[in-house]
Amino acid sequence: MARIVQKYGGTSVGSAQRIEHVAARIEKAVAHGNELVVVVSAMGKSTDVLVDLAKQMTESPSKREMDMLLSTGEQVTISLLAMALHKRGIEAISFTGWQAGIKTEESHGNARISDIQTDRMEAELGNGKVVIVAGFQGVTQSGEITTLGRGGSDTTAVALAAALKASRCEIYTDVTGVFTTDPRFVKQARKLHSISYDEMLEMANLGAGVLHPRAVEFAKNYEIPLMVASSMVDEPGTMIEEEVTMEQNLVVRGIAFENDVTKITVAGLPNKIDALSTLFSTLSKNQINVDIIIQNQSDDKHVDISFSITQSSLKETIAILEEAKSELEFSSIHYEEDLAKVSIIGSGMVSNPGVAANMFNVLAENDIFIKMVSTSEIKVSVVVKEEDMVLAVEMLHQAFQLAEEEAAVV
Ligand code: ASP
Ligand code: MG
Repeated sequence: MARIVQKYGGTSVGSAQRIEHVAARIEKAVAHGNELVVVVSAMGKSTDVLVDLAKQMTESPSKREMDMLLSTGEQVTISLLAMALHKRGIEAISFTGWQAGIKTEESHGNARISDIQTDRMEAELGNGKVVIVAGFQGVTQSGEITTLGRGGSDTTAVALAAALKASRCEIYTDVTGVFTTDPRFVKQARKLHSISYDEMLEMANLGAGVLHPRAVEFAKNYEIPLMVASSMVDEPGTMIEEEVTMEQNLVVRGIAFENDVTKITVAGLPNKIDALSTLFSTLSKNQINVDIIIQNQSDDKHVDISFSITQSSLKETIAILEEAKSELEFSSIHYEEDLAKVSIIGSGMVSNPGVAANMFNVLAENDIFIKMVSTSEIKVSVVVKEEDMVLAVEMLHQAFQLAEEEAAVV
C-alpha cells in the first residue's frame, strides 16, 4: 500500500462529467490498495471569472477580500468530488485549506505555506477515507484565509506530500507531461521522460507554465518524486526527480520563454560606490520585481544601468524613479517595450563550455538581436524582441537537437 497525493488541475475538473472521470480514476487507485489524498483546483476557468467579477466591483480590491473570493473556487470542486466518490461507494471527505491544517504566513495573494498540521487528515486516512483538499489556500496564525498565488494548487499538493510523507505526488493536468518547450508554439516539442528538480525549477521560473515554481522547490527540498501527466489521456508522463542519469550527451534539455518583458535604462547615474544599491533599494522598497540587470560605464563620472521588469510594472517603476530623481541624480530614463525572454536550460551546461556561444551564434545567424543576457550554472537567458521570440525558440530547439528521441532510460 502506498500513500499517494494526486492533484487535478482546473481543466481536469472543468465540468460535472470531468469530475466523474476524476472520481473513476481515484476509484482505480483506491482499488489498488493505495491511500489517497487528492488536491483539486477550481473548476475550469472559474478563478479567472472570480477575478473578473472583482474587477467589475472595483479597480483596487482589498487583498484580503480577493483571497476570500478566490478561495471559494476550490471549495466548489472538493465538495462535488466528494459527492461523486460517495456515489461510487467510496468513503471520502473534503477539507478546505484551513480544515486540512495548512498554515501560511500573514500575507494575502501570494502567501507561503509555513506549516501543515496533519492530524485531521491522518485521522481520516486512518478511517480508510479518501481525503480531498482544496488547493491554493491556507490560513494564517490569526485566522485569515490566504491564497498561494495563481497556479498554487500544485504547491498545496507537493507540500501535503511532504507533510504526509507520501511516497509520491502525481500532478494531473491538461498536457501529457513536461515538454522540451511549449508544444503550442513549437510543433517539434517533445515530451521528456524525466527531468531533474533543478532543471524543472529553472523551467518553471523562466516561464514554462506547467508547474508552479514553489511546488518544484518543495519537491526538491523534501525529495518528493513528482510526476506530471494527463488526466485525460492514458500515457506515461514526466518524472521530476533528483538525478536524471539519461541523456548525458544532451547539454540543453529544455527551452522556456515568456513575453511581457520591458527593459528600462536609467542613464547618467553618478559613478559612485552605492549607485546600484541606492537604485535597487528604491525599487525593492516599492515591491518592484527586477529580473536581468546590466551596468555600463558611459564615461569616467557616469554609469548607465539597464534592467528588465514586467510590462505591467512599467508605469509604476517610472513614477518611482522620477520621484526619486533628485536622490538618484540620473539624467534620463529610457524604456523598450514588447520584449521577450528566451532561456535554454540543462544541468549539463555546468561542465560544457561554449553553450552560450552556441546560442548567440544561432540567434545571430537568424538576425535576432540580443538585448540582454543573464546566465546561471544551468541556464542562459536572452532578451529579444517579442516578434522574434517564437523563431528564436524554434531555431534553438533545432540547433540543440531537442526534438531527437532520448537515449535509453537508465
Ligand atoms: N485556481 C487557482 C488558479 O487558477 C489555483 C490553481 O489552479 O492552481 O490559479
Ligand atoms: Mg497549473
